[in-house]
Amino acid sequence: MTASETDIYRQPHSGSLPRAVYIHVPFCRHRCGYCDFTLVARRDELIPRYLQALSNELSTLSSVYDVETIYIGGGTPTHLSAVQLTELLQRIGEHFRLTAGGEFTVEANPDGLDDDRLAVLVRHGVNRLSLGVQSFDEKVLQTLEREHSREQAIDVIRRARSFVSNLSVDLIFGVPDQSIGSWEETLKLVADLAPEHVSAYGLTFEKGTTFYGRRHRGQLVPVPDEIERAMYQTAMTLLGASGFEHYEISNFAKPGFESRHNHVYWAADHYFAFGPGAARYLNGVRSTNSRNVRRWIDGWLRHQPVLQEIDVLSDETMAREAVFVGLRRNRGIDLQKFEQRFRRSLKSLAPRVFDQYLKSGMLEVSAGQLRLTDEGRFVADSVFVDFLWTSGRFCGETT
Ligand code: SF4
Repeated sequence: MTASETDIYRQPHSGSLPRAVYIHVPFCRHRCGYCDFTLVARRDELIPRYLQALSNELSTLSSVYDVETIYIGGGTPTHLSAVQLTELLQRIGEHFRLTAGGEFTVEANPDGLDDDRLAVLVRHGVNRLSLGVQSFDEKVLQTLEREHSREQAIDVIRRARSFVSNLSVDLIFGVPDQSIGSWEETLKLVADLAPEHVSAYGLTFEKGTTFYGRRHRGQLVPVPDEIERAMYQTAMTLLGASGFEHYEISNFAKPGFESRHNHVYWAADHYFAFGPGAARYLNGVRSTNSRNVRRWIDGWLRHQPVLQEIDVLSDETMAREAVFVGLRRNRGIDLQKFEQRFRRSLKSLAPRVFDQYLKSGMLEVSAGQLRLTDEGRFVADSVFVDFLWTSGRFCGETT
């Protein structure tokens, strides 16, 4: 390891001990056209080598850590067989202990999530599933190139219910040719199926995806902005009427079921991360593993870290990022606590931006909390960029 790589895996000192760990499993049956996550499709022969490489990366930890949340994301972690999942969970369990009442989430897709896999997850302490449903409209599922049907999605939500008591469902809106009626129907059905948590994301066309190319060739036409906005408003209205609290820009939860793992990110606290493409934040340093799955595996089979980026965050950058992530939560940022933590006022980071957005009604201060207004949520990305304009990136969000 180089000196800087050694720093990345340096053990956190007490006082700033991470409360969360993220593990990335980079395998899927096929790559959906809109997806730019770190993964390989139809390369299952790599799974045993991946498990060994992950074990080697986890072995950089010199002791067993107690954490409040464990999150296994992907890719599709449940693409692994029941035997491979068992090995994965055992290896994680050798290094991390979930504290009493902790949250242990695994992402899963409706296709292939059989009872054997569900039983393995529960046996190893998993108590929350995040299901990639995306839509209950067959046509929308086809456009998104999903591999499951509406009926499979409904069946898996019902079956998963008898294994875990905390279910999250991911949905996507703003899909080409999707109507508001179709989106309403999906929202009503999800409300009937009553998961504890729903994440609703607007479709994005990320550079490098096949959707990006198809959009530029005119083969996929994004829904107009006003329709996407109406869909977001519909989600807020319908999910709100069904007892979900809108607690973060894209996330809705029944009382007591907000994602504890994501709250660690949104609070700009430290966290561990392992696996290709995984981003960690330890000792004030944000580092991201290589997104090249084969390079990451080959490196760790030789006990060599393969990093994509290392950012040693200045105090100012840490403060800016805390604004960026903190404003995502509907309760916003406690201005007094912010000042105590970063030894500067939030306004001093960007006085002009601060005043401008307050004046235009995109931000508001209420009971000492700075937050986005309903109107501000529609332009959240611009607000974040304006607060972040001198700093780097943030990645690692889960659902
Ligand atoms: S199943 Fe999920 S992770 Fe896999 S390719 Fe599709 S969107 Fe990406």
